[in-house]
Amino acid sequence: MDKPLSPAKIPAAAAFSACELGSDYDEQFFILNFGTRLLTAFTDREILVDIALETLADFSRGERLAILSLDDKRENLESDGIFSNLRPSRPRVSFPVPGTFLEKVMLEKAVAVHPLVVEREVPLPVEDGPAGKEQCLCLPLVGASFRVVGLATVAVPADHPFTFFETQQLRILSTVLAVSLENARLFSRVITDGLTGLYTRRFYEIRLEEELYKLKRRHGCLSLIMFDLDDFKKVNDSFGHLAGDDVLRQFGRLMQEHTRKGSTLVSRYGGEEFTILMPDARLEEAVALAHRIMNLCANSVFGDETRPIRLTVSGGVACTDSTESLDPKAFFSRADAALYKAKNEGRNRIVIGNE
Ligand code: GH3
Ligand code: MG
Ligand code: MG
Repeated sequence: MDKPLSPAKIPAAAAFSACELGSDYDEQFFILNFGTRLLTAFTDREILVDIALETLADFSRGERLAILSLDDKRENLESDGIFSNLRPSRPRVSFPVPGTFLEKVMLEKAVAVHPLVVEREVPLPVEDGPAGKEQCLCLPLVGASFRVVGLATVAVPADHPFTFFETQQLRILSTVLAVSLENARLFSRVITDGLTGLYTRRFYEIRLEEELYKLKRRHGCLSLIMFDLDDFKKVNDSFGHLAGDDVLRQFGRLMQEHTRKGSTLVSRYGGEEFTILMPDARLEEAVALAHRIMNLCANSVFGDETRPIRLTVSGGVACTDSTESLDPKAFFSRADAALYKAKNEGRNRIVIGNE
């Protein structure tokens, strides 16, 4: 049997006797193992946070939880997600840290229970407070190099005694969560282009390989559009590189706004070159999208009111299907050669690589 422990005091390892372990624990270890695997299975931050909220709710028996991350300046804790009324949600709430009790809780890096205050749905610890029906269980999220990356908070009944075993389970889960959140952040940086927010070339290449591999195993098709902004050097030369950067961002948004969400992947291939990878799209669909974006670009005013900028874009389109077994380079070259032709034929046009 677990020894009940006072909620405010979290036991030291020495307090745990080996004889506490026995067959009663087998099932709990099994469930813990399952929980940690779940937390390492996702690189998408939003999915990870939802899973983590539910997992921590199960293990702590809390009904109101929050996962908060430190911002880059380590000045604010920002809510990644909260869990209440049995469902996760994602309100944007931020709490300053320096000089507050939150800072103390995080510096101590220890699992602890404190008086509770609920601010904008988020359970938070306070130093002193009336002994309410609930208290705030704090799980500092300690990632690589023992760096605190955030805090998970859970409103728990004040009379709920946490056993050493329960506390250790929460400690393990919060450590795994901290590392998974860091991984998700790194992954998102690697696959996101810093200037435009589109996917990076590296991620496009990985997805292209995956999609071509899928085509070898099942029927279907895959289309690719390659865009290159026309005479973009002139934009930089006339308006400066910062204005050029704005145009790249605006063109990125234009592509995203007019592309079906889901499996379509819009990436910045490099400089002023972009790709749209369209799984399951036939050539006609890809050509229609390429024309739509080319026309929108020609009719848009980029820059701002003080310095309107007009420009055009050229595109090459390629499509393959399961009968071809193309490798990534051969498929890309098809779209690239078409783009080259579009440039040579006078720009502001779309050429089909399959012809
Ligand atoms: P073309 O119609 O043949 O494509 O002509 P172009 O001027 O667009 O092509 P070129 O390859 O001569 O020039 C591309 C320009 O894109 C040059 C480079 O400075 C600019 N560029 C590349 N990356 C960035 C960036 O991140 N920001 C800005 N502002 N400019 C960039
Ligand atoms: Mg170019
Ligand atoms: Mg260009």
